Amino acid sequence: MILEVDNIHTYYGESHALQGISLKLNEGETVCLLGRNGAGKSTTLRSIIGLSAPRSGRVAFQGRDITGQPAYRIARMGVGLVPEDRRIFPGLSVRENLEIAQYRRPGATPRWTMERIFDEYPMLGELAGQDGATLSGGQQQMLAVARSLMSEPLLLLLDEPNEGLAPVIVKQIGALIDELAKTTTILFTDQSVHFALKHAKRAYILEKGMIVHEAKSEDLIGDTETQHRYLSV
Ligand code: ATP
Repeated sequence: MILEVDNIHTYYGESHALQGISLKLNEGETVCLLGRNGAGKSTTLRSIIGLSAPRSGRVAFQGRDITGQPAYRIARMGVGLVPEDRRIFPGLSVRENLEIAQYRRPGATPRWTMERIFDEYPMLGELAGQDGATLSGGQQQMLAVARSLMSEPLLLLLDEPNEGLAPVIVKQIGALIDELAKTTTILFTDQSVHFALKHAKRAYILEKGMIVHEAKSEDLIGDTETQHRYLSV
């Protein structure tokens, strides 16, 4: 088990955003968190990586209790987050956006060098000297994912990677997730079922800060009642 979230409650001030979320990921799995706007998907990812610390409950990464640890420390243990708004640093080139994120965990086998990123994603290589802020939404998403790889994550958290992207780019992001899934454990969020079920083996559905359904992708595909009740379809 690489990640175990046990009954976490997370608040924004007095607002009780997560009301007892529990989930588990085995090493190598790709899992999706589904749910409508405001269901608590981003807050779950933020709680795992320590940006919104849970007030109660427990998060364990590789069997170690990481609840309440600062985000930078959790990131250094091997958890990468690509946030919904991507946070590309304006004024820095594509190359500099990647360089700034380079961090090698002690003992980690180097897998993602700048050369490999440019080799595997030639589009980023072609844009290497360009200001990150001038990239299209899809290019920024590729850069945001590539940037998270520079810290050699063992667990990658992707927050709505498709948001606002054209269908052709969504396909590319899907292919990227499939490729990364061969070597990395991935937890990503999405609002609708189609993309999620194509690229994840299992899904959890959230509503009002709670997990209301858990299923294998193949079982959720035909379950239109659950889809209509909890998701944007
Ligand atoms: P979205 O797709 O809109 O990001 P989500 O499923 O990721 O949806 P969250 O962003 O986790 O949902 O939001 C969960 C709840 O917490 C919502 O009720 C939301 O209004 C609230 N919330 C989120 N961020 C904040 C914040 N910074 N301050 C106060 N409340 C927040």
